[in-house]
Amino acid sequence: MTTKQKLKIQQLRKLGQSYGKIAAALSISENTVKSYCRRNNIGNSKKPVEHEDKESNINCKHCGEPLTQGTKGHPKKFCSEQCRRAWWKENDSQYKKKAYYTLVCKECGKTFESYGNKTRKFCGHACYIKHRFEKARDDCDACSV
Ligand SMILES: [Zn+2]
Ligand SMILES: [Zn+2]
Repeated sequence: MTTKQKLKIQQLRKLGQSYGKIAAALSISENTVKSYCRRNNIGNSKKPVEHEDKESNINCKHCGEPLTQGTKGHPKKFCSEQCRRAWWKENDSQYKKKAYYTLVCKECGKTFESYGNKTRKFCGHACYIKHRFEKARDDCDACSV
């Protein structure tokens, strides 16, 4: 394989092309593409996720107890209702910690919570308007001494 072909494989894998398509595009065998990708860990990002999913279906996500899977419906993730709730409680608060930012309003100086946006400057629209208005006045060439 030439360096050019190797680069092309990397490129195409990033775009999500299958081994077969890459092989056809470069007119080399599919096995060559496959083994090259495997050796260089290209396009394997999907595999560990699948593995993780399977694992978490075997043991309770909360306490780690082995689960007995029923034949019907969605695979179980928790051994009991208590575990399910406890897990969600934990993960919910973790999620919230990430998504909520406590910020200080530039206009009134009050702290406020912003959901998923740490670049907010004002607690609300009223403060935003006030700030804009006052800034405009400050910047006015005619008024400034
Ligand atoms: Zn459990
Ligand atoms: Zn404010």
